[in-house]
Amino acid sequence: MSKYDYLIVGAGLFGAVFAYEATKKGKRCLVIDKREHIAGNIYCQEIEGINVHKYGAHIFHTSNKEIWEYVNQFAEFNNYINSPVAVYKDELYNLPFNMNTFSKMWNIKTPKEAKEIIEAQKAEFNISEPKNLEEQGLSLVGKDIFEKLIKGYTEKQWGRPCSQLPAFIIKRLPLRFTYDNNYFNDRFQGIPMGGYTPIVEKMLEGSDVKLNTDYFEFVRENPDIAKKTVYTGMIDEFFGYKLGHLEYRTVRFETEILDEENYQGNAVVNYTEREVPYTRIIEHKHFEFGTQPKTVISREYSSEWKPGIEPYYPINDEKNGNLFLQYRELADKEANVIFGGRLGNYKYYDMDKVIEAALECVKAEL
Ligand code: FAD
Ligand code: UDP
Repeated sequence: MSKYDYLIVGAGLFGAVFAYEATKKGKRCLVIDKREHIAGNIYCQEIEGINVHKYGAHIFHTSNKEIWEYVNQFAEFNNYINSPVAVYKDELYNLPFNMNTFSKMWNIKTPKEAKEIIEAQKAEFNISEPKNLEEQGLSLVGKDIFEKLIKGYTEKQWGRPCSQLPAFIIKRLPLRFTYDNNYFNDRFQGIPMGGYTPIVEKMLEGSDVKLNTDYFEFVRENPDIAKKTVYTGMIDEFFGYKLGHLEYRTVRFETEILDEENYQGNAVVNYTEREVPYTRIIEHKHFEFGTQPKTVISREYSSEWKPGIEPYYPINDEKNGNLFLQYRELADKEANVIFGGRLGNYKYYDMDKVIEAALECVKAEL
């Protein structure tokens, strides 16, 4: 007899939603995580009274009303709207690409003027169907914006030339001909007051949780602990990398406490030129409109992932896509293991999509 119905590997958002729903249906869940804390990449740690997003800035946004209502049962969200600023050399621009950006870039006022400039710049390249990120960027916003605000940032972030990256990476960014600096087009947006960790804490209330526990060791010693496993770690690691490594980007966060109240005046400032080694600086207090006397900032340095460090961004190019499909075939043969989440599905998932996927997964399962 197994002690649990589900062994859930990973106390991140996917694992926590699964655990919450399965527990509600009377299932017994054990959630393990190799880290020393719950909440996976949405973990927040309080420093100087500020909720610091330890694994990078997390802004909740969705157009799915059900998911918005779902997440709101676990926390009250504030009215934060993400409006990053981009720094290129000594110039400052608003993001995403909108009339404020165009007006600053070309000293113009109207949408008509902006469209004319972009069209003229696009015509130089004559791209009918963008085949990669470079062509996508050029055909979307023209050469000036591509070179100042996309090229350097993207090459730092992904460690590859834009011409070798898939176009979809920047399709996430809105392009608008209004004076609107909201980074997302979604209907709902905000930051949970008190950070993300309490959300996951509530989701895990009915489950047993074991931290500092790596699945591979644990399952060797406890092979019959549960009837089924929900695995949200790296899919290639699950299979001992036997078909080769999937590639990821990782991020190093250099976090500093500063003895000043307001360092950069905004939560997110992107450094888009190649020569600045970090991609962005996050000033965490601004996510919750904090007024603490000190401030905490994190510089993000992006690099290629190596075993032993945290994987963050799957690299969804053709080579990795094909390798993932081969692992997916192996996964389909594991009758008692469900693969989920950002790492289990090797997918660039936002939080709302992770919740949606976990809810669908529970529904199919129970
Ligand atoms: P994770 O949070 O990674 O959880 C997986 C857990 O499994 C981890 O805790 C890990 O320690 C554990 N684990 C792995 N292997 C093992 C093992 N062998 N044994 C035991 N435990 C294991 N989304 C948004 O919606 N908005 C944003 O602004 C946003 N910003 C982001 C910024 C960054 C830098 C990153 C990397 C992601 C961002 N996301 C954002 C995405 C968001 O982080 C994910 O959608 C979400 O956290 C994924 O949840 P998950 O449970 O799939 O994965
Ligand atoms: N991007 C860019 N310039 C910026 C911000 C983003 O070129 O100032 C591109 C970059 O390729 C990045 C992608 O847009 O990887 C998606 O950006 P987003 O801010 O959504 O990335 P995330 O927050 O997930 O790192």
